[in-house]
Amino acid sequence: MNIEQLKAAYEAAYQKQATDIFFSPGRVNLIGEHTDYNGGFVFPCALSFGTYILLSKNEESKINFRSLNIDAVYSLELSELTAPLPNKAWANYPLGVFAQFIKRGIAITQGYDIMFWGNVPAGAGLSSSAAMEVVTAYALNELLGTGYDLTELAKIGRAAEHEFAGVMCGIMDQFASAHGRADHAIYLNCDTLNYELVPVKLDGVKVVVANTHSPHHLDSGSFNDRVRQCQLAVEQINTVRPIKCLAELSQAEFLQVEHAITDEVAHRRARHVVGEVQRTKDAVEALQKGDIDLFGKLMNQSHESLRDDYEVTGPQLDALASAAWKVDGVLGSRMTGGGFGGCTVSLVRDEVIPTFIEKVGLEYTNQTGLTADFYIAEIGDGAHRVL
Ligand code: ADP
Ligand code: MG
Repeated sequence: MNIEQLKAAYEAAYQKQATDIFFSPGRVNLIGEHTDYNGGFVFPCALSFGTYILLSKNEESKINFRSLNIDAVYSLELSELTAPLPNKAWANYPLGVFAQFIKRGIAITQGYDIMFWGNVPAGAGLSSSAAMEVVTAYALNELLGTGYDLTELAKIGRAAEHEFAGVMCGIMDQFASAHGRADHAIYLNCDTLNYELVPVKLDGVKVVVANTHSPHHLDSGSFNDRVRQCQLAVEQINTVRPIKCLAELSQAEFLQVEHAITDEVAHRRARHVVGEVQRTKDAVEALQKGDIDLFGKLMNQSHESLRDDYEVTGPQLDALASAAWKVDGVLGSRMTGGGFGGCTVSLVRDEVIPTFIEKVGLEYTNQTGLTADFYIAEIGDGAHRVL
């Protein structure tokens, strides 16, 4: 849908025009997976796909939530904005953002008629949820004149995800959606929130995203299990060396303290995190030096570690990645996002992209009975006003 079509859809739903429109993107993480809530580095980029919010004030002191992607409509009194809706209602994502503004002492005294539309496939690991949270936070910040910076808006989005969706995620997704820049990836230290925008100049190579379309994805329970296992590793390491988060440890330091992690699962989770933080640093350095081959190899190692130590890949993502690894001209391929279902991200030489799509698609279908979907990622800008 283009903006004119979105405006028309808004008018059809609410019998009036939207006064404001904002956009915030989904993201694809190039490397640095499951490191964000462990205080490590990540390297995501914003996509040109994302979520739009259209809105205008109303006179009925209600927040009306509609989405062109999902039929269910929610209408809430201004007094009902601080508790989540039951049954995993989609409106919990924007509602959670309203609740965060209220928690920060911002009174919501005005009703709004809101409509969303997004073109990030939902549940595919490209963070349609963060796009929705950040676009809502961005819109409220503008309309209420609260003056929060982009990092604060990302924190508001993450808190909404924690408290209203029950997913104890790190800051990466919301940060990337808020701070994205066209043709750049964000090298983010999730402990300090210091970041650097690194140009993604890939001569003759494209970032290709492949969607497993698997019905399985990392549910909030399995995600929160990983968070707890990492916390356990931190606690056990603290019996021999004080640390705040796993990412503080270099690989050499980890070798000295790993014996303290008596829980076998927690040990493997920690090994992934420490290795992935190093791979992310190495990958960014490689990109800055123009060594895309090395970047690709590190992506492959990232996938293997997520498969063997972190155990968040699953048969569909493994099938896509291993099919990609066999194609000449593929520099690297790995799962991206939380895991299980969702997407892989690959670096593919321009001239083999059609072969890549054909061969990987065919092998994936042969192995899983499912059909994958491919697109060439365009790295777009972060949250902004459209109208
Ligand atoms: P991901 O963030 O990887 O896309 P999640 O499971 O975290 O997957 O978030 C997907 C959920 O976010 C959807 O099930 C839906 O509840 C909500 N959502 C995202 N985009 C929209 C949209 N445009 N309209 C309504 N709900 C949406
Ligand atoms: Mg999400």
